[in-house]
Amino acid sequence: MAPALHPQPLPSGRPHPDRWIKVQPEGLYVEPGGFYIDPVRPVERAVVTHGHSDHARPGNRHVLATPATLAIMAQRMGEAAPASTQPLEYGEPIRIGDVLVRLAPAGHVLGSAQVVLEHAGSRVVVSGDYKRRLDRTCAPFEPVPCDVFVTEATFGLPVFRHPPDLGEVEKLLHSMALFPERSHVVGAYALGKCQRVITLLRAAGYDRPIYLHGALEPLCALYGRFGVELGELRPATVAAREELRGALVLAPPAAATDRWARRLSDPVVAMASGWMRVRQRARQRGVELPLVISDHADWDELTQTLEDVGAPEVWVTHGREEALVHHATRRGIRARALALIGFEEEDLEEAAVSGEGAREKGA
Ligand SMILES: [Zn+2]
Ligand SMILES: [Zn+2]
Repeated sequence: MAPALHPQPLPSGRPHPDRWIKVQPEGLYVEPGGFYIDPVRPVERAVVTHGHSDHARPGNRHVLATPATLAIMAQRMGEAAPASTQPLEYGEPIRIGDVLVRLAPAGHVLGSAQVVLEHAGSRVVVSGDYKRRLDRTCAPFEPVPCDVFVTEATFGLPVFRHPPDLGEVEKLLHSMALFPERSHVVGAYALGKCQRVITLLRAAGYDRPIYLHGALEPLCALYGRFGVELGELRPATVAAREELRGALVLAPPAAATDRWARRLSDPVVAMASGWMRVRQRARQRGVELPLVISDHADWDELTQTLEDVGAPEVWVTHGREEALVHHATRRGIRARALALIGFEEEDLEEAAVSGEGAREKGA
């Protein structure tokens, strides 16, 4: 059990951050600033960490986020995108009410940010989703020393240790060399994972065109506009069936494992997800070639990050909180689970895009 926290002044007389950051039904509320971070219900004022659909939801009146996150929201939400937006670059401080706010890179997807909050002599960092390994599609995670570090724990169990990504991509290239007549279809979430897989393939020397399911094209184009080099991409249309023999095709996870992929010539179905570490999940989805490529910190990255930020107190927002709370407590860090609801595991985040995928199939 985590030690219960009671509102109490810090030694210097500063109010404890749990006096001014509160868990409400809408989400994490920063009271002296009058705003929520990644609210799960519509609010007046939101700060959004990144564009995944469980963090960036429609219906908020005013949204502050990085320029890339705002562009992603505009593209994904269309008419439902917030009318009133405020772009904030990484590292640029801004005062909201009685809180000094800045955004720091989270290394999760393009535009992803940690929210650094300073109020009444304390600094709190809300990290959103993050990872620590190299990703050419976004700025790397910046550890910010703080009094309270608020972290996710999607892969917060010691069994979750993601292998090196380049090794996973080499498995894919090896399979392509072994079966040159077969198409290889890789299921990859549209925002972040898709572009990361492409940059990993390019880094491994794969320079042929890569074919995309229609649902993946708009975000790849957006990444391109933000300066992320993806090489030659082509639409994976029915007309290109012959061309797709022996080719590499990326599709949303739902499309990769259904009828859509079977139109291709004897496809090898691969899937890029942190959950591919769990063999049973791969089997359930009919994945022949599981690739353990995640945009979330694994156990070692989570625990290393606690060391790097050096916070004497940690709040765990969602995921597998218990093991991380236990680990932190053993390290002498005060820790508690916030048990925020409405945040989903990577696989479930895909639901929104599966919808897009379903529409694309008809087109
Ligand atoms: Zn995310
Ligand atoms: Zn998330």
